[in-house]
Amino acid sequence: MIYEKDFPYAFDENACAKCGGKCCTGESGNIFINNEEINLLSDYLKLDKKQFMEQFIKKVGLRYSLKEVEFEQGYACVFFDQIKRNCSIYELRPKQCKTFPFWKYFKYHKEELQKECIGIYYLS
Ligand code: SF4
Ligand code: SF4
Repeated sequence: MIYEKDFPYAFDENACAKCGGKCCTGESGNIFINNEEINLLSDYLKLDKKQFMEQFIKKVGLRYSLKEVEFEQGYACVFFDQIKRNCSIYELRPKQCKTFPFWKYFKYHKEELQKECIGIYYLS
């Protein structure tokens, strides 16, 4: 169980095995990634940066996001393993993914978070 200071809930990371990757799939959204993370990931995949950017990155304003692909009734992150239903780059996933579900937004959107993630336990 993971606890984070000032958050009203805890997160059981074992829930991910049962979940099937709900936070990596569904409606289209942005999976922001920074330059340092892009460098690490392109090295890991043994791609030069230009090739990596063309294949996996879209520009969103001044920022970068991982691309998505069509999946089931919606979309999945380009690094979502559709067979195993988990993240194929887990150790190198962007900070946005590493910090989920402890996002400030979810402190104030309890119902939305409960609908999204089965690993959430509210602390009394
Ligand atoms: S939605 Fe929650 S339980 Fe499901 S994969 Fe994401 S973090 Fe894990
Ligand atoms: S990088 Fe991994 S954890 Fe993040 S959305 Fe993509 S598949 Fe999910």
